[in-house]
Amino acid sequence: MVIKNHSNLQTTTASYLQSIYTDVLQRSPHEVEFHQAVKSLLDSIAPMLSQHPNYIKTGVLERLVEPERMITFRVPWLDDQGNVHVNRGFRVQFNSAIGPYKGGLRFHPSVNSSIMNFLGFTQTIKNALTGQAIGGAKGGADFDPKGKSDLEIMRFCQSYMAELAHYIGADLDIPAGDIGVGAREIGYLFGQYRRVHRQFEAGVFTGKGVDFGGSHGRTEATGYGTIYFVRQMLKQLGDSLNHKTVIVSGSGNVSIFAIEKAIELGANVVACSDSDGYIYDKNGLHLPTIKRLKLDEDQRICEYLTDHPEAIYVEGCDRIWGIPCDIALPCATQNELDEYAAEQLIDNGVTIVAEGANMPCTQEAINLFLDKGVSFGPAQAANAGGVAVSALEMAQNSARVAWSFEQVDQMLQKIMKTIYENSMRAAKDYDLDGNLVAGANIAGFKRVADAMVAQGI
Ligand code: NDP
Repeated sequence: MVIKNHSNLQTTTASYLQSIYTDVLQRSPHEVEFHQAVKSLLDSIAPMLSQHPNYIKTGVLERLVEPERMITFRVPWLDDQGNVHVNRGFRVQFNSAIGPYKGGLRFHPSVNSSIMNFLGFTQTIKNALTGQAIGGAKGGADFDPKGKSDLEIMRFCQSYMAELAHYIGADLDIPAGDIGVGAREIGYLFGQYRRVHRQFEAGVFTGKGVDFGGSHGRTEATGYGTIYFVRQMLKQLGDSLNHKTVIVSGSGNVSIFAIEKAIELGANVVACSDSDGYIYDKNGLHLPTIKRLKLDEDQRICEYLTDHPEAIYVEGCDRIWGIPCDIALPCATQNELDEYAAEQLIDNGVTIVAEGANMPCTQEAINLFLDKGVSFGPAQAANAGGVAVSALEMAQNSARVAWSFEQVDQMLQKIMKTIYENSMRAAKDYDLDGNLVAGANIAGFKRVADAMVAQGI
C-alpha cells in the first residue's frame, strides 16, 4: 500500500513536472538554452518533490520558471569613424525572494533572451546555494567588444548604462562582469551610473576597481573558487591536486585564475584555449605569458607559441577535450563540452570534471559522466565563488570597510567548502549519494522555494 502511494506520487510528480516544462516550451518557444536549464533543474528536484508535495500544491515552480521581469532596450553608440551602431541591451530580474537581484553583464554577439533567461534562472539557484542574501539576475547586450577601440568600448558602456541606470540600485539590482565585461567595462559602467544618479553608490556594482569600492580577491574569485571546490571533490576521493594533469578551456577571467590556483596547489595545467583554438604545452603552461597576452595585450592564444615554440597550437577550440588529463575544467561558455567530448575524456581516464563556466556541458555529457562514475561538479556549485565574493563586496560597501585579500580568500574557501558539503548532504537526503548536480539543485531550489512560499509571492 505504501509502495503504491509512493509510485502514485511519483507519477503525479512526473506529470506535474512535464506540464511545467511544456508551459515553458510554449511560452518561450525558441529559447533552447533556457529550456535546457529548466529541464536540468526539474529532473534534479523530481525525487525531492515526490516527498514534499507542498511545493506542488503551492505552485512554486510555475512562479520560479517565469522571470519577475525582463527589460530590453536600444543601445545606440558611435564608432571612431562617426558611424551610428545600434545594439540590444537586456536585464532579466529573475527572482528576488531571498535578496536583491544579483548577476553579471555579458557583452557578446550571441546574447539574446534565451541566453539571458538561462543565465538568470541558473543564477537564482546558484546565489541561493551560496547561503547569502542575493536574488538572481543577468544582463548584457549583443555587442561584440572584439576589435573595438578603448573609446568605442567607453561610448558603448555609457550608452548602455544611460538606460540601465534607471532599473538598478544597491538594494535593488547589482550587476557585475561576465563574458566581455571586465574591470575596464565595469569602471565605465559605474562612472556613467554616478553621472545619472549624482551620488556615490558603491554597492550598485561589484567587480569594481579596489580604489573605488571594489573588493580584493573578486577578480580571482570564480577561478580560485572552482579550484577550491575541486579540492573538496578530491578530498572526498582521498586525493589532492598535486601532480594532477589538468586542462582548462578558455583563457579569460575564470580560466586564468583557475589555472593560477591549480598550479599553486601542485597541478600540471597543460592546455587552455580561446574561441579560435587551443594550446598544449605538455610540461605545463607558462601562466605569465598567458596573462600578458590575454590581460594586457588582448592577443589571440596562438601567440603563445612565439615565446614557447615547444608548445602546440591546434585550430578549433572543441578539440581540447581529446587531450588526456585527470581533471577537465570547462571555463569558457555554454555547451562547449558535448557527449563526444565526454566520451573522449572518459576513454582517456578523466576522474573529475568541474564547470567553471555556466552550463558548459550538455545534458548528454553530464549523464555520461554520472553514469561512468566521473566525479562531476556542476556550475551552480563549482563557479559560485565569483558571486559569493561579490556579495562580500556588497557587505564591505554597506559597512564602508575594506577587507584584505587574505581575509576575503579565507571566506571564499569556507564558502566553497560549505557549498560542497550542503550539495553532498542534499543529494544524500534523497538517496542520490555523490550526485552533486542533484544536490546543488535541490539545496538551492529549497531555499528559494521556501522563501517564495513564506512571502506568498
Ligand atoms: P571572459 O570574457 O573573461 O573569457 C571567456 C573566454 O572563453 C575567452 O577566452 C573566450 O575566447 C573563450 N571562449 C568563448 N567561447 C569559446 C569557445 N566556444 N571555446 C573556447 N573558448 C571560448 O569571460 P569569463 O571568464 O568571465 O566567463 C567565462 C564563463 O564563466 C562564462 O560562462 C561565464 O558566464 C562564467 N562565469 C563567470 C564569472 C565571472 O566572475 N567572470 C562568474 C561565474 C561564471 P575569445 O576571447 O576568443 O572569445
